[in-house]
Amino acid sequence: MTLLGSPISIDRMRIVKIIKKKIEAAGIKSLFFKDKLCFDANPGQFLMVWVLGVDEVPMSLSSIAINNLSSVTVAKIGDATNKLHSMTLGDRFGIRGPYGNGFKIIDGKALIVGGGIGLAPLMPLTKALIEMGVEFTLIAGAKTKTTLPFKDTINTLQKNHEVCVTTDDGSYGTCGTTIDLIEDYLTKRRFDMVYTCGPEDMMWKVLQIAEKCKTLVQASLGRYIKCGLGLCGHCVIDPLGLRICKDGPVFSSEVLRKTTDFGRYMRNPDGRKIPIGKV
Ligand SMILES: Cc1cc2nc3c(=O)[nH]c(=O)nc-3n(C[C@H](O)[C@H](O)[C@H](O)COP(=O)(O)OP(=O)(O)OC[C@H]3O[C@@H](n4cnc5c(N)ncnc54)[C@H](O)[C@@H]3O)c2cc1C
Repeated sequence: MTLLGSPISIDRMRIVKIIKKKIEAAGIKSLFFKDKLCFDANPGQFLMVWVLGVDEVPMSLSSIAINNLSSVTVAKIGDATNKLHSMTLGDRFGIRGPYGNGFKIIDGKALIVGGGIGLAPLMPLTKALIEMGVEFTLIAGAKTKTTLPFKDTINTLQKNHEVCVTTDDGSYGTCGTTIDLIEDYLTKRRFDMVYTCGPEDMMWKVLQIAEKCKTLVQASLGRYIKCGLGLCGHCVIDPLGLRICKDGPVFSSEVLRKTTDFGRYMRNPDGRKIPIGKV
């Protein structure tokens, strides 16, 4: 693709306009925009989203090229995400990317386990699996019915696929967590791959259960990403020196087994290593 004769690099900031907004759940909104480079993105890849005057933050693509639009789905937690939530139709933000590796599509049967906003990169994955004819079961978890994102997509998927929703308080679907269910799924049935994204303690438990059941995992990890280019080292995971932004964010069981950080440590905004959950 060229702009005034020069190739458009994924590293060049593009300014996009919000064409559609959707409230997905309490504190979670999807912002839809048009961007040609996102058309070729893989499920699990992310963008660096520049919120003018506030910050630049990583966001997974939650839909890719549907009716010419792609989207990010934003959970409101701090400065940049609050600003994104306050934006209206026609407002603009910057994007770089798509970055990262994304999920690898396998042959066989897949189990997808997503928690809360972690369901975002798993939504385009379900679409890709359907297109490739891969059979899957989806387990989607949230704290309560009001905080479960992508209810419309989940309801649509339910028509042709096995879908199980869990909520911690039992206000929707099965009462409990995704973890309460997956041991049963993985011990009683054969899956060829578990795809997961969500709170890291959830993904860590998913890996432990999958290991016991000799099932492979692809997990999409979240960290503070600053440059998104693999230069600053802020999102590195020890002791392998792998960068979430460049080598991930999706990592396989083989890698996850070897890292001492997964489920335990991340770096805070200053770069100091801190236990997960104690940001
Ligand atoms: C590859 C990747 C994909 C992501 N995809 C999505 C997505 O699809 N949707 C979405 O809503 N979010 C996603 N995130 C997380 C998102 O980038 C952060 O929520 C965002 O940077 C917060 O910015 P803020 O300015 O609103 O919050 P800040 O003001 O920076 O922080 C608010 C609070 O959240 C904590 N916090 C901020 N960022 C993180 C982090 N990465 N990990 C743990 N705690 C953090 C801070 O310490 C602070 O307590 C993704 C992260 C990564 C690495």
